[in-house]
Amino acid sequence: MAQNIYPMSEEYEEYLIDESKYSGYADSISFPKSEEEVAGILKELSQKGIPVTIQGGKTGIVGGAIPKGGHLMNLSRMNKALGFWEEEDGTGRIQVQPGINLIDLKKEINNLFRKNPQFWPVDPTETSASVGGIAASGAQGINRILYGKSGQYIESVRIMDYEGQVTKLCRGESKALSGNECVDALTLALGKEGITGIITELTLKLLPKPEAIWGLAFFFEKNEQAAAFVDGLKEEMPKNDFASIAAVEYIGKASLVMIEESRPFMTRIKELPGIREEIEAMIYMEVHGQEEGIEEIAEQLMELAMECGGDPDEAWAVSEEAEIEKLHIFRHAAAEMVNLFIEKQHRKDRRITKIGMDMMCDGTFGQTLGSFEKELSALGLKGCIFGHAMENHLHVNILPESYEEYCKGIELMQKWAVRIGKEQSIFPGEHGIGKLKKEILGDLLADAYIEQCKKAKELFDPGEMLNRGNIWN
Ligand SMILES: Cc1cc2nc3c(=O)[nH]c(=O)nc-3n(C[C@H](O)[C@H](O)[C@H](O)COP(=O)(O)OP(=O)(O)OC[C@H]3O[C@@H](n4cnc5c(N)ncnc54)[C@H](O)[C@@H]3O)c2cc1C
Repeated sequence: MAQNIYPMSEEYEEYLIDESKYSGYADSISFPKSEEEVAGILKELSQKGIPVTIQGGKTGIVGGAIPKGGHLMNLSRMNKALGFWEEEDGTGRIQVQPGINLIDLKKEINNLFRKNPQFWPVDPTETSASVGGIAASGAQGINRILYGKSGQYIESVRIMDYEGQVTKLCRGESKALSGNECVDALTLALGKEGITGIITELTLKLLPKPEAIWGLAFFFEKNEQAAAFVDGLKEEMPKNDFASIAAVEYIGKASLVMIEESRPFMTRIKELPGIREEIEAMIYMEVHGQEEGIEEIAEQLMELAMECGGDPDEAWAVSEEAEIEKLHIFRHAAAEMVNLFIEKQHRKDRRITKIGMDMMCDGTFGQTLGSFEKELSALGLKGCIFGHAMENHLHVNILPESYEEYCKGIELMQKWAVRIGKEQSIFPGEHGIGKLKKEILGDLLADAYIEQCKKAKELFDPGEMLNRGNIWN
C-alpha cells in the first residue's frame, strides 16, 4: 500500500461508527492533508478499482460517512483556511479546506476579520462537524428562520471525481443533467451526501456579526402552554427595524430530565439554574441585532410567555457571549443525550441504532407535538422530542429499552414517513438519508428526489465508486 494509505486495524476502529451508532467496515483508511494528496490516493485506488467512502467529522446521524468495505478517506486533517477577503457590500468570504470544523472555522474568522467582525450563520450546534460534511449532508442551522438555508452561505466548491478530476461548482452557474434538465451547479454537491464526489475546497459567504445577540429560555409546566407560545409567535413574530428572532427551539420533558441527570458531569452548563421537576417544556430562543431592538423584542416575548402560562421570573435572558454559549450547549445537550442513550443501548445490543424523525409537518405546533406524543404513548415507547419549533421540524427520537422496542420504533417511523411524506415533496430533512434512513425508509423515499440524485451521480460518478450505499445505491 502507498505510504499514506493504511490497512484497517483496531487503531482506526473509531472511524467505523458515527453518531447514529451505525457501524461498518473497511480494508484501508487515509487522512489526506491536501487536494494533491486526495488525487494521489484516488489514483492508486482507482487503478485497483477500490470504492471509496468519504468522511468528515463523523458527527452525521444517518451512517453516510460509514463504509461498507473498500477504502475510507477521512478529511479531518484537511482543515486549513486558504484565503479570505471582503466584498464591497461588507460581507466576508473565506476559502477553506473541507475538514475544518466549526470551532476552528470560528477561530479563523475571528482572527482574519478583526476590523469588520464576521460570522458564518450556519449553526447545526454540533461544533465538531466539518464544513465539508455540513455541505454534503445538507445540514441546517438552528438560526435558519432568520438567515435561511445553509447552502446560501456556500458560494462555490471544488469537487473531485474518482479519477482525480476537479470541477469548480459556483452559485448561479447552470449545469445540464441528462434529459436536458438544468440545475444550479452547486446543487450537484450540496446535500448529495458525497455521492457526486469529494468536496476538496469551499468558499463560504460570511455576514457582519450582529452588534448584539441575546439568548433566552422560557419554561412551561404544560406542553400545551409551550405550544400556545410557539403558535402565538407564528401568528405574530415580534420584530423591529433593529433586531429579529433568529432561533426558536423546543425541548421536551424527556430531554430536560436527561440533561438534568447529566448536569453534574457537564462543566459548561453546570452553573445554569436548575429546572423544576414540574417543567414540561423549554423554548430556547436567540435574538440578533442591536441592543435596544433586542430589549423591545425580549419584553414582547416575556409578555407572550406570561399570557401562555410561563413564569417570567423563571425565564433566562443572557447577552454575554460566554453565557449564550452555555444556553447553546444546553440546547445541544438535548441531541447529545439521545446519542449517549443510543450508544449505551447499542453496546448492549449491536442491532440498536439511532431512530429519529427529521421532517417538517403541516398544521400548528400544538397539533404536531400532540400527535407525536399520543402515538408514542399508544405504543408504550419512550421518546425525546426537541427541534425547530417555528417550522414544526421536530426531531422525535425513540429511546428503545430493547430490540423489540427498537423494531416498534422503526414501524412508527415508517408510519410517520408515509403520513408526512404525502405532505412534503422533499424527504432528506437536515440530516440526510445516508445508509441508515435508506434501510429504515427504503421505498418510502420521495421518487423525484432519488431521480435527481441519480442524474447528478451519472454526471460525476457513473462507475459508482464514491459513497456507495448512500441514499439509494
Ligand atoms: C449532537 C448532534 C446534534 C446535531 N444537530 C444537528 C442540527 O441541529 N442540524 C443538523 O442539520 N445536523 C445536526 N447534526 C448532524 C451533523 O452534525 C451534521 O450532519 C454534520 O453536517 C455532519 O458533518 P461531519 O463533518 O461530521 O460529516 P460526516 O458525518 O463525516 O459525513 C456526513 C456526510 O457527508 C459526506 N461528506 C463528509 N465530508 C465530505 C466531503 N468533503 N466531500 C463529500 N462528502 C463529504 C459523508 O460521506 C457523509 O455522507 C447533529 C449531530 C450531532 C451529533
